[in-house]
Amino acid sequence: MSTRDEKQSMKPPKVLIPEIKLQARVKELASEIARDVQGKEVVAICILKGSFVFFSDVIRHLDMPLSCEFLGLSSYGNKMVSSGEVKVTLDLNDPIEGKHVIVFEDIVDTGLTLTYILQSLAARRPASIKTCALLMKPSSLKVEIEPDYVGFRIGNEFVVGYGIDMAGKQRGLPYIGYIEHDH
Ligand code: 5GP
Repeated sequence: MSTRDEKQSMKPPKVLIPEIKLQARVKELASEIARDVQGKEVVAICILKGSFVFFSDVIRHLDMPLSCEFLGLSSYGNKMVSSGEVKVTLDLNDPIEGKHVIVFEDIVDTGLTLTYILQSLAARRPASIKTCALLMKPSSLKVEIEPDYVGFRIGNEFVVGYGIDMAGKQRGLPYIGYIEHDH
């Protein structure tokens, strides 16, 4: 790592979405979901790793019978630009055939990852699939996809925190921050 890169990675992220706004929106999302899936048995799927904090906050507001599953995906390398090429690092434990599924994803950027996830889950013949993204970057979309639930629509900034990493770090921040680039 060069001295310039070291300086950049040490800069604390700026706050984009403070904790209080995140928590309020998470509660709203949970009520929207609860209203829509009333009476159904739901399988909530957390896309690892970036969604684990968001997922655990939302499900604690969902007062309903719920199974939790984890799907581990990792992009190749630490690229800041998505290619949509993902490697499955952990598969679901149980079949989802005939079940009502809600997928929780941290960020929809180009939309390629969520498209890949939906194709792969659809092949397992669930009764329905809904998607919930904490963040969406509408101006970066490369495919037509609209999650059923979106926490916040943001610009093109590279964000970290609340489960979302930069090269494996910063997941523990309680807010969504962004990294300012030196120009
Ligand atoms: P997509 O395939 O929609 O372009 O990318 C989705 C994935 O790219 C996210 O799940 C996330 O892992 C990564 N990603 C997209 N934007 C950001 C960002 O601003 N910060 C971080 N840390 N990851 C991002």
